[in-house]
Amino acid sequence: METLIRDIPDFPKKGVVFKDITPLLGNAAALAEVVDRLAVPFADAGVEAVVGIESRGFIFGSLVAQRLGVGFVPVRKLGKLPYKTIQASYDLEYGRDSVEMHVDAIAPGQKVLVVDDLIATGGTVGAACQLIEQLGGQIVGLAFVIELSFLKGRHRLSRYRMHSLIDVSSE
Ligand code: AMP
Repeated sequence: METLIRDIPDFPKKGVVFKDITPLLGNAAALAEVVDRLAVPFADAGVEAVVGIESRGFIFGSLVAQRLGVGFVPVRKLGKLPYKTIQASYDLEYGRDSVEMHVDAIAPGQKVLVVDDLIATGGTVGAACQLIEQLGGQIVGLAFVIELSFLKGRHRLSRYRMHSLIDVSSE
């Protein structure tokens, strides 16, 4: 599976090694295995909705939702969702960014699994969790294909059950 993730140095900017998951998406067997391995640990967790983060989280999140037999909720960058939204901001290396979710996307008490392709600093998924909890959702877990563990995103999210498939422990 690791061999289907391609390192692209200095993309989208100098110093970043971008993890390109498109070869993995193009391989039917590997994609099915990834979706299975993301979903199965939460099969008995009573998940009622999967939240996926724009944009690669939409791909894995939708497939995991289908695998678990539940619906999918998108968390998007600012200005992309058409209905009334709530927003949360998070820190970037330089400045801040925001994500949003529809106000009626999660029902109070609903059990939610959050899925993204990769966790780096944890800022993005932290903002998504803030939105889910603001709507009264109950986060049962966070699932990622890749964890850049040297950035220690896991530490700021230690109150959640976190599951990742591939650990990248150094730059
Ligand atoms: P962070 O908020 O720092 O945890 O960043 C996670 C988000 O940024 C995810 O939605 C990832 O898709 C994207 N991202 C961050 N770093 C990388 C990377 N090295 N390669 C691919 N995507 C990344």
